[in-house]
Amino acid sequence: MFIASIVFIYGLIIGSFLNVVIYRLPREESIVFPPSHCPNCQTNLKAFDLIPIFSFLFNKGKCRYCSENISYQYPLVEILTGIIFFALYWKYKLSIELLIYVVLACLLIVSSLIDLKYMIIPDYLNYFGIVLGFIFALFFEYQTLYSALLGLLIPAAILLLIVIISKGGMGVGDVKLIAMIGAFIGVKYAVATIFLGAFIGSVIGVGLMITGIKGRKDRIPFGPFIAMAALLMILWGEDIINWYIGLFL
Ligand SMILES: [Zn+2]
Repeated sequence: MFIASIVFIYGLIIGSFLNVVIYRLPREESIVFPPSHCPNCQTNLKAFDLIPIFSFLFNKGKCRYCSENISYQYPLVEILTGIIFFALYWKYKLSIELLIYVVLACLLIVSSLIDLKYMIIPDYLNYFGIVLGFIFALFFEYQTLYSALLGLLIPAAILLLIVIISKGGMGVGDVKLIAMIGAFIGVKYAVATIFLGAFIGSVIGVGLMITGIKGRKDRIPFGPFIAMAALLMILWGEDIINWYIGLFL
């Protein structure tokens, strides 16, 4: 439990960094410079303002310098990252898989949040992820280069076909996203990710329409559902596939 707590705290801190990436990437600002500042009053934040969760609670969700409200996105992404890191540790313990899936999780969190806010997933994020997936396959034995290559191509081909047939809802950005996921987790899990993502997306989509949060014509980004499905596959892949096969037996 001690190590798990440390992994969780790492998640909170990395989550805080991911917030910076989510804010700056779409604006094409550098991630390392200038240092963190309030987007409203531009005051540089001090170490005390950058403690995950705690700073937000202590300052009651406002900037300490200009009292501007700070988005709930900040603590939520921190907690989400912490929980995902914790869950990955619980499944993979201290292993090379933990490191690899933690990197993938970070990429998925960033692309999901950017997709939710801007309805777009930056290409270079996916390309960067694909290259990383191949580097991991090259240096570590968790999968072969061949498996990474199949994972890159086949699920993307399937999703591209769905995009062409369905004409809308999903875009080419989602195809590149599943290509990146496939390069990390291989064909089987990435193909399952597409169907699980579509399932989660339709359940949540119907829910949003029934509650009136989204109308029939509102576009709902698909990327976050793919990301969610990929994480579920990494955590419970065999169980999910067995359950799905069981439905037809
Ligand atoms: Zn401020």
